[in-house]
Amino acid sequence: MGKIRLIIAIIVGKLMICLTKLTGSQGTVFPGRIALIICPEILKILGENISEEIIVITGTNGKTTTSNMVAQILKEHDYSLVHNAAGANMITGITTAFIDKTNLIGTKIFHYALLETDEANIPLLLKELTPKVVVITNFFSDQLDRFGQLDNIINLVKDALRNTKIELVLNADDPLVTHFQSDTGLHCWYFGFKETDYDKKESFHNNKVGKYCVFCQSELVFDKYHYAQLGKFYCPNCGNRNPEPNFVAHSLVMNPTISFWVNDIYIESPYQGFYNAYNILAAVSIAKLVGLKDEFITNAIKIYQPQAGRMESFNIAAKKVILILVKNPIGLNQAMAALEQESQSKNILFILNDNAGDSRDVSWIWETDLEMLATNQLNINNFICAGTCSGDIAVRLKYSGFPAGNIVLVKNLAEGIEELITRDSEVCYVFTTYSALFSSRKMLIKYQDKYKADISALKVKDFMGMGE
Ligand SMILES: [Zn+2]
Repeated sequence: MGKIRLIIAIIVGKLMICLTKLTGSQGTVFPGRIALIICPEILKILGENISEEIIVITGTNGKTTTSNMVAQILKEHDYSLVHNAAGANMITGITTAFIDKTNLIGTKIFHYALLETDEANIPLLLKELTPKVVVITNFFSDQLDRFGQLDNIINLVKDALRNTKIELVLNADDPLVTHFQSDTGLHCWYFGFKETDYDKKESFHNNKVGKYCVFCQSELVFDKYHYAQLGKFYCPNCGNRNPEPNFVAHSLVMNPTISFWVNDIYIESPYQGFYNAYNILAAVSIAKLVGLKDEFITNAIKIYQPQAGRMESFNIAAKKVILILVKNPIGLNQAMAALEQESQSKNILFILNDNAGDSRDVSWIWETDLEMLATNQLNINNFICAGTCSGDIAVRLKYSGFPAGNIVLVKNLAEGIEELITRDSEVCYVFTTYSALFSSRKMLIKYQDKYKADISALKVKDFMGMGE
């Protein structure tokens, strides 16, 4: 009877996946949800078809980029894998990913499962699956209105990990992550950066997150910050400090694309920004632990093209337009810090929504370091505000000291993109919250095609001697 239920759940799930693909929707949650109702053990059963390892990647920022890069490295090796897509990182989305890949009777074997998941989802996930490795990228405050306080989340994850045989891969530079070893007793591997040319003596501390020692609540002393609370720290009271990393990143260069060394492996990537350097470091660390070959790792990172909204690049009217998903204060601060490495003049289109999938409370923009715009060290010509909360971001910008005359409020996305590319600048950036990510991406592709067509029409005119 159980076997029949499983097969029915798989068939229904696969049909629904086909339907959602046909309608072109991004819905990867619904098939898993229905399949779990038909056969509640489906994820547990399909999880047993992983022959090598189940790897879970969690943390506030960087899950998607890190897991996509590991997926790329595994594919270079010709390993088969189950991998859930961005935005489908709850149990339902993960179940959909398994159903999509398995055969009709649920017996197909895969080498690896690579699963990114929200922190709050870890307890549920560990009831269904037995991962070999759990990776924690970092902890920042994110969508507090949805998940409650950061401390609660960290404790939730810690409690779920205790009494397991899981190995942890942890960020050695994040004081909110490093204490997992002593608090869980699990075997831990660490990745971290040595001093870099981009370190700061001060950091913009959002909500004082990570400012105090997790053991004794004394204020931590930071020798250097890489960004946010990530850096070299110690507690003057109890001696809590960064653990020695197993995977040491050094000699970081961002001009603006990234290169650095991880132990003795040289890494180059088309990505930008320190936060992406961390994502690459996490991916390389996982790959090394799994035992993948250095040349496959370096090659996969080098050719890996940014995915939707993760510094994805478009070419519109001979201008480079880069799309970046921003969903919380640290993410936005890091996106702006990445612009510091780019010397060309810029226009920015900011799409701020408060829909489902976004933070319902957009007051998080007041916790960001938009004041760095006031000095214009980022060389920004125009700031275009769009989305359901365009007025909020415009007001926030005005308070940051950014010249009011260069803040443009638009009615819709199309108008925003027109303003972005027609106003004077050498390069353009689109910052968007989650609910506008796919619509803005679609529209950028449309504009890219439109201008391509216009240019070829002009060339034909020139050729025919008809050019103006
Ligand atoms: Zn302490």
